[in-house]
Amino acid sequence: MTEIVDDVRRAVRWLADNADELGFDPERIVLVGHSAGAHLAAMVMTKADAPKLAGAVFLSGVFDLEPVRRSYVNDDAKMNAEEAKTNSPALLAPAVICPVHIYVGDSETEEFKRQSQLMHDAWCQKVPACTLSVLGNRNHFNIVFDLTLLQSRLFNRITATAKAGCNVTDLAAMKVFDQADKLACERAKFQMPEGVIYLDGNSLGALPKAAPVRVKEIVEKEWGEGLIRSWGEAGWYKKPLELGDRIGGLIGAAAGQTVVADSISVNLFKLVCAALEMRSGRKRLITDESNFPSDIYVLQGIERILPGVEVKLIGRDGSLDELLEDSAAAVLLTGVDFKTGACLEMQQVTERVQASGALMIWDLAHSAGALSVDLDYINADMAVGCTYKYLNAGPGAPAFLYVASRHHAVARNPISGWFGHKDPFAFDADYAPADGIRQFLVGTPPIVSYGALEASLDIWEGVSMTDLRTKSMAMGDLFIELMEALDPSYGFTLVSPRDASKRGSQVSFRHKDGLAIMRALIEKGVIGDFRAPDILRFGFTPLTLSFEDIWQAVNILNDIMKTGRWRDVSSDRGAAVT
Ligand SMILES: *Cc1c(COP(=O)(O)O)cnc(C)c1O
Repeated sequence: MTEIVDDVRRAVRWLADNADELGFDPERIVLVGHSAGAHLAAMVMTKADAPKLAGAVFLSGVFDLEPVRRSYVNDDAKMNAEEAKTNSPALLAPAVICPVHIYVGDSETEEFKRQSQLMHDAWCQKVPACTLSVLGNRNHFNIVFDLTLLQSRLFNRITATAKAGCNVTDLAAMKVFDQADKLACERAKFQMPEGVIYLDGNSLGALPKAAPVRVKEIVEKEWGEGLIRSWGEAGWYKKPLELGDRIGGLIGAAAGQTVVADSISVNLFKLVCAALEMRSGRKRLITDESNFPSDIYVLQGIERILPGVEVKLIGRDGSLDELLEDSAAAVLLTGVDFKTGACLEMQQVTERVQASGALMIWDLAHSAGALSVDLDYINADMAVGCTYKYLNAGPGAPAFLYVASRHHAVARNPISGWFGHKDPFAFDADYAPADGIRQFLVGTPPIVSYGALEASLDIWEGVSMTDLRTKSMAMGDLFIELMEALDPSYGFTLVSPRDASKRGSQVSFRHKDGLAIMRALIEKGVIGDFRAPDILRFGFTPLTLSFEDIWQAVNILNDIMKTGRWRDVSSDRGAAVT
């Protein structure tokens, strides 16, 4: 059943009038309006003869939120076009009468898509920058202004809050989200100082409460009492592989391919040299100019000591495809960009790189514990990542390294230390690599640090990656939405992708006075970080944050900007912000 009517009021009336025939309950209609749509929706709701709806949610910038809310709560205060125009520069007043194309049916069908497109096209003629759609099924109906909402978790949150009768950006809505949050119970497993909203778990994860207990046990019992016997009796010798397998569970790596050792930088050196040896004759190494500097520096170090090796940077020297034309040995890329939070299509990139004959090495520093990674499934060759960021294993905790088992017979560790030896305790004068992934160990592993990692992995064991990713995307969406509702004169520009599926678990905004603003935020207990020259970075760790935290953080930022307090804060680059 389809019908084209000429404005949103008639659309809702039409739905209500035809509810019986359409087979849904008119009182379950939820009206969702965004920007200009919010005004239209408000007008519908304030009409004396408006049909009874389950709820209405209006999303709007600061300029237009208040008049909308007034017109909604006060039946008399019908907002006319004049009033709306005065109150709201963002309002698309000429489009108050807009075409609404109604389609009721299954939202999965091709016909639905076709109808949505027709509707979209009709709306675009009037307001090119805006989109509109009407979604429906047998017992639930939404009018959605702005198709982009559909791609985000925002859409689900909107309907949840509509049912609870509050606005999606209200503090009350945060309580609704927090109550529905499946991961809310994880927060109590971490220690967090009073008065701190920690948005930097992407740089240094929070402390699991069980970590000091486990570390104390290792120090006092295993070391203090067990002494050297603990290499065997407490299982120290096996730890690098055992913990590697546990991390493997978080990155889609079957057992026997991951070890925990050294730092990312050192592990990269090992893997890149191994890759050069495996692709003998090929001398080119490729990474991105926007990669984390240490990754680039390690390649440059290898370029210096190995004759003929050349490092090429995507961006500075050409595109990935261009650089792959000249037989590369290996490509090193970071799954989630450390500054912008943009994430790469790991499977696609891996395929392209391997098709050229090069090996694909992934840096998972901002992916492990932030989103789903499936190294085996995407057929990655090698990977590295750290445990002190999203994995919460503490400062200086060792990194991990992955080599796909199909390469174990030929991949050789250039730092051939005794812990990678076939039989370290034979103390043979000649090096012979251990079988499998063990040969990528170098020296004595950091057993005390492993304790904190174990405590953290115990928490991760019970976490569903799907729940984690869903919450992470919802938090990022909410943060962007709240930031963009602030006074535009504050001057923040979104740097991260708006589409949550193209983002890791962080959101960055650009501001020319970013350093001073971040310092002012930190003074007020909101800890994010700053990346030169002008990026404010906010990490959203689903295990330790609530939706209310995010709301409060933006509220505090608003206060700092409104009062200009950040101007009193020193903005020379000292040690305060990392
Ligand atoms: C954090 C980070 C590192 C850190 O490397 P370490 O050698 O472990 O200190 C490396 N690469 C990327 C992409 C990072 O984000």
